[in-house]
Amino acid sequence: MSDKPETTDSAPANFIHAIIDEHLRTGRYDHVQTRFPPEPNGYLHIGHAKAICLNFSTAQKYGGKCNLRFDDTNPLKEEQEYIDAIMEDVRWLGFQWDALCYASDYFEQLYEWAVQLIKAGLAYVDQLSAEEIREYRGTLTEPGRESPYRNRSVEENLALFERMRNGEFAEGECVLRAKIDMASPNLNMRDPVMYRIIHAPHPRTGDAWCIYPMYDWAHGQSDSIEGVTHSLCTLEFEAHRPLYNWFIEKLGIFAPTQIEFARLNLTYTVMSKRKLRRLVEEGYVRGWDDPRMPTLSGLRRRGYTPEAIREFCDRIGVSKSNSVVDIQMLEHVLRQDLNKRVERRMAVLDPLRVVITNYPEGQTEYMTAINNPEDEGAGTRQVPFSRVLYIEREDFMEDPPKKFYRLAPGREVRLRYAYFITCTDVVKDADGNIVELHCTYDPATRGGDAPDGRRVKATLHWVSAAHAVEAEVRLYDHLFGAPNPNDVPEGQDFTDLLNPNSLQVLTGCKLEPALAEAHPGERYQFERKGYFVVDPDTREGHLVFNRTVTLRDSWAKLQKKMGRGK
Ligand code: ATP
Ligand code: MG
Repeated sequence: MSDKPETTDSAPANFIHAIIDEHLRTGRYDHVQTRFPPEPNGYLHIGHAKAICLNFSTAQKYGGKCNLRFDDTNPLKEEQEYIDAIMEDVRWLGFQWDALCYASDYFEQLYEWAVQLIKAGLAYVDQLSAEEIREYRGTLTEPGRESPYRNRSVEENLALFERMRNGEFAEGECVLRAKIDMASPNLNMRDPVMYRIIHAPHPRTGDAWCIYPMYDWAHGQSDSIEGVTHSLCTLEFEAHRPLYNWFIEKLGIFAPTQIEFARLNLTYTVMSKRKLRRLVEEGYVRGWDDPRMPTLSGLRRRGYTPEAIREFCDRIGVSKSNSVVDIQMLEHVLRQDLNKRVERRMAVLDPLRVVITNYPEGQTEYMTAINNPEDEGAGTRQVPFSRVLYIEREDFMEDPPKKFYRLAPGREVRLRYAYFITCTDVVKDADGNIVELHCTYDPATRGGDAPDGRRVKATLHWVSAAHAVEAEVRLYDHLFGAPNPNDVPEGQDFTDLLNPNSLQVLTGCKLEPALAEAHPGERYQFERKGYFVVDPDTREGHLVFNRTVTLRDSWAKLQKKMGRGK
């Protein structure tokens, strides 16, 4: 796998659309029907977003339809909670499915088709154990061996299959297999299992069934039932395509075309539901919607917009080769979107008190602040200024090194939208910690410029102490410390690669009063600090913000260095 992004910023060519164009031209299909087919065994992640965008936008492009189909064929792993979350996430991304389908709605049809294959001598009930089946399957270099049960009569198979359905066998006692070719170079064609016995109730079909279809048997036939013309799936199914086509051909039913594309992988995160579930169940994160998770619900809670995710999926394009996309590219696209649309506010995350000693006690002035320099329509607001303020602790240094241009003893800086101030005194506690600064202000600099034209090198954000609202602010870093947490060193578990500092909780942050009424889901840029969103943990009198992303765009810098522009 390469560590380069799949494409650059220029619009990528879509090889799938080229295939569809050809199909429409030659009359193989006269319309386009796609589907997004998640298994409801977990929450959707950003990799799924790629598949969702691809399926829905392909249908849109050709004036076709896209179904949402739950691939609910394994009752041991699937839950209604996941079905509900998946529907919410697809809608949030901005897509509306045509038909809502469930593979379990096709169980009876699939059963009838299995009987049809048995009658044609193309399927048989096997009583080898799971382990024996594996042994008999052979390897990539050795052909498989035929099961001793392979040549039962049609009658015997029909009777046994009916008894399987009726619950007369225990789990693992027998399976139904397709009768194809135990010597095929493609292991998927070596008499694949079609049904296994699971004595467990299904969230939708209850106790009606105790035999459940395998993915390969359920998927293509479900596509065919729904009239799916183009069945888009990820590359690992390439070797399943001959089997997909074999079933369709032997049944003589409507034939969709399976087309494979590369999975999305992102640096510093994992993307398999199995691993994400472990992070949730073992308590490494607070839930599927933890803002550090690559799940759509996590990204939503983190403050991502659906527009940014769709734009990202568009930019990475679709290709046939697996790759890992730099997570900085996702953040870059997000910043571009947020920059255009979210309002600016001032918030001090690590407050240091500043007393303006020559400013009248009890006086408040209102400074006009621009809500969004990128959007004139966003207007302005009034920010209160008074004698006691907070600035960011990191914006002051008592003994500054050469390149530190912010506040220091004797130095003058600008307070955004307000005045120039000069630090005159540093007040410390008994242990020598700085507890407060004394400054003077120059009344002639109101609005941020000196009439005599003198310059300052820094502009700081600030909040009036008397007017500030308090908040908890949660800062996030990559969930994993390693760029590729799928590459786990010998003897370690992927959880060993987690970043121990991925969450930092700040309390007592001071925000300008305009934020007092902020509601969960609302996004802001805190000047100089990044983009933030109000977390649903917010309660009356207790504001909680998540930092969505910082302002520093290392991706854009990197692109510039590489001469890629934008
Ligand atoms: P996981 O391995 O994360 O459990 P999955 O493929 O088993 O993923 P499904 O619910 O079966 O998850 O996937 C639904 C659809 O989403 C499939 O068509 C699958 O190919 C696609 N998909 C899943 N992960 C990705 C990914 N990382 N990139 C692109 N498409 C994906
Ligand atoms: Mg799956």
